[in-house]
Amino acid sequence: MQSLADEIDALLPQTQCTRCGYAGCRPYAEAIARGETEINHCPPGGAATIAALARLTGRAPLPLDPANGVEGPHQVAVIDEGRCIGCAKCLPSCPVDAIIGAPRFLHTVVAALCTGCELCVAPCPVDCIVMKPASAVPDAPSAAPPAELNRRRFYAHRERTERRARERAAQLAARKLAARTPAPSGIRA
Ligand code: SF4
Ligand code: SF4
Ligand code: SF4
Repeated sequence: MQSLADEIDALLPQTQCTRCGYAGCRPYAEAIARGETEINHCPPGGAATIAALARLTGRAPLPLDPANGVEGPHQVAVIDEGRCIGCAKCLPSCPVDAIIGAPRFLHTVVAALCTGCELCVAPCPVDCIVMKPASAVPDAPSAAPPAELNRRRFYAHRERTERRARERAAQLAARKLAARTPAPSGIRA
């Protein structure tokens, strides 16, 4: 059976942008369900999401809180490939893996997958990622990707990130154990 938090989460855009003041859509949904916060803190969802949340929770449809940002046209991230140094620092920050690249290679954004969350902008050490209105970017759809696609891509991204962290921790532990284990007598290390 779905919990109230599940039902609220299903109405959120799943960009994981954190503009609501929470670590992502699910933590915000849980805070609403616990009655700790209002339903008007999600700029990507805007008035439509507030109205849907109001219908679900029976609360008043308040205007979007300007402290969280403003509702605007869909934007996408664009990388100035002439300035990109291939450092790959933007890759882990994208919750939906919309950036393609590898260390020492130029990186690019798949506009159709970009939610406009802006989370890749700050990590770039050479400031070569800018947000642009989707209407000004060839190949970018005019609307943001659907929440369900964002959710699937985010959960896959998180699962992969957590798995890599577990693998790294296991490798580190194995190396430490090997360094502490004395070589058998008669065998030179
Ligand atoms: S999309 Fe809305 S609910 Fe999700 S993290 Fe951003 S502001 Fe919060
Ligand atoms: S490319 Fe940047 S703005 Fe677009 S979804 Fe990824 S992190 Fe967000
Ligand atoms: S963080 Fe900036 S410079 Fe580094 S790979 Fe990404 S876009 Fe290129």
